[in-house]
Amino acid sequence: MSNQDISRRDLKHVWHPCTQMHDHEQLPLVPIRRGEGIWLEDFDGKRYLDAISSWWVNLFGHANPELNAALRQQADTLEHVILAGFTHEAIVELSERLVALAPPGLSKCFYADNGSSGIEVALKMSLHAWRNLCQPGKTRFIALENSYHGETIGALGVTDIPLFSETYRPMLQPPLRAPSPDASQRRTLPDGSVESDADVARRQFVAMEALLAQHAHEVAAVIVEPLVQGAAGMRMYDPLYLTLLREACDRHGVHLIADEIAVGFGRTGTLFACEQAGITPDFLVLSKGLTAGYLPMSVVMTTDAVYDVFYDRYDTLKGFLHSHSYTGNALAARVALASLDIFARDDVVNANRERVRIMAEALAPLRDHPHVLEVRQKGMIAAVELVRDKAARTPFDWRERRGLAIFQAALKRGLLLRPIGSVVYFMPPYVITPEQIRWMVATAAAAIDEGLAAPAGSWSERGPEMA
Ligand SMILES: *Cc1c(COP(=O)(O)O)cnc(C)c1O
Repeated sequence: MSNQDISRRDLKHVWHPCTQMHDHEQLPLVPIRRGEGIWLEDFDGKRYLDAISSWWVNLFGHANPELNAALRQQADTLEHVILAGFTHEAIVELSERLVALAPPGLSKCFYADNGSSGIEVALKMSLHAWRNLCQPGKTRFIALENSYHGETIGALGVTDIPLFSETYRPMLQPPLRAPSPDASQRRTLPDGSVESDADVARRQFVAMEALLAQHAHEVAAVIVEPLVQGAAGMRMYDPLYLTLLREACDRHGVHLIADEIAVGFGRTGTLFACEQAGITPDFLVLSKGLTAGYLPMSVVMTTDAVYDVFYDRYDTLKGFLHSHSYTGNALAARVALASLDIFARDDVVNANRERVRIMAEALAPLRDHPHVLEVRQKGMIAAVELVRDKAARTPFDWRERRGLAIFQAALKRGLLLRPIGSVVYFMPPYVITPEQIRWMVATAAAAIDEGLAAPAGSWSERGPEMA
C-alpha cells in the first residue's frame, strides 16, 4: 500500500477534524504507517519528526515500549468497567498519584473522556456548587480574550477564537471577557524603558479586577489557560497574573478554573503551570498529556470544599449526576500511571531543563529574521511569530496562508509543524535529543524562508488559514 492508495480510500469516507476538505484537492494527506519515538513514518517510507507532539498530546514518543507493555498487560486483565458504583485498581492508584502531584488542596478527581468534556464538567460543577450553596444567581463565567477551551457547546462558549466559534454563536452562552495578559502587548514607557511581562500582567489585571467587582454576584467562575494561551498562537504571560487572580477570586467569592489541558504535565517547565504562581485553583482540568498521547481521558481535580457542597442524602438532590460512558477507562488510567512512572524515574521535569536551554539557544538567531516579530518560550513550548512588516507590526493577510506554505515546506524536509496562522510553534515530545532540537529549529527556519518566498495568495481562493 502506498500513500496514494490509502489517501484515495480515506477521502472517500473520512471527514477530517478542523479541515476544509476541499484543501485536499491540492494538499496531499499524510498517511502514517507507524511511529517510533519522535518519528512518524508514512506509507512511502518517508519519516517526519513530530515537533508538535501530534496535537500536543504525546510526551514520551510514539509506540513507546514501556507504555505499550503497561497497556498490553491492562488489556489482558480488565479493559473497562462502568465507574458508577464500581471501581478498579488503575483508577484508584491514578487518583492517589494525581492528588499527590497536583497543587496542594486538590483532593478529588472526576474523570471525563477528552479535554472539552472536562471543561464542561468544571463549568457545570462550579455553577452547581453555588446552587447547592443557595446562590443560584451565580451562573456566568469570566474568560480571557484569545482563550481556547474546546469545541463542545459549553467549552466553545468560553472560547474566544472567532474562526471556531462565530458560526455557532446562536447556540453559545457568552461569558464576560477580560483582556488577555499576553506579554507581547508590552509597551514602551515615557522614560524609554519597556514594560516587563509582570508589568503587562499587572496592567491587564485591572480590567479583570473591575469585572469581578461589578459582576461577582452573578459569576460562578473565572476560567483561564495558565501561562500559555495555546490555540491563540502560544501567547504567553507572567505567573503574576495567576497570583493576582487567585487572590481576587477568593476576595470576591468566585471559583478559579485552571485549564491545564495543554500546559499540564511539564510543558511549561514545571509539572503544572499553576506551580509557577504558587496557587491552587478550585478546579484543575487535565487531559492531553495525561495518557502521554495514547488514549482520550480527562480529569477535573477539585477541593474537599467543593466536594462537600455536593455531599448529602440522595433526596436533597444535590448530587453531581454527570457521566460519560467511558469514564475512568482502565486502559487509559493504566497508561497514565505508566507515564507518571516515567516522570518519577527519569526526573523528567528536571531533565527537560537542558532541552529547554538548547531550544532557547537554537531559536535565538531567529530574532534577527526580517519577518520575525517575536520569539517566545515557556519551558518546552516555543513560538516564532511572523509578520509581513516587522517595524510596522503588519501581519500577513490570512488569505495568503503563509502557515500552510510553511507546513508544506517543513513536511518536504521531514518535519511535522502545524503553524497557527503565522505563528510557527514547537511543542516536542520529551524524548527529543539535543541534535534533534537543533535540526528541528534549523529545518523550521528553512521552511519559514521557503514558505514566505512562495507567491503570495497561492491559497487565497481556498478558505481560511489552517488552525
Ligand atoms: C485541546 C484543548 C482543549 C480541548 O481538549 P480536546 O481533548 O481537544 O477536547 C481545551 N483547552 C485547551 C487549553 C486545549 O489546549
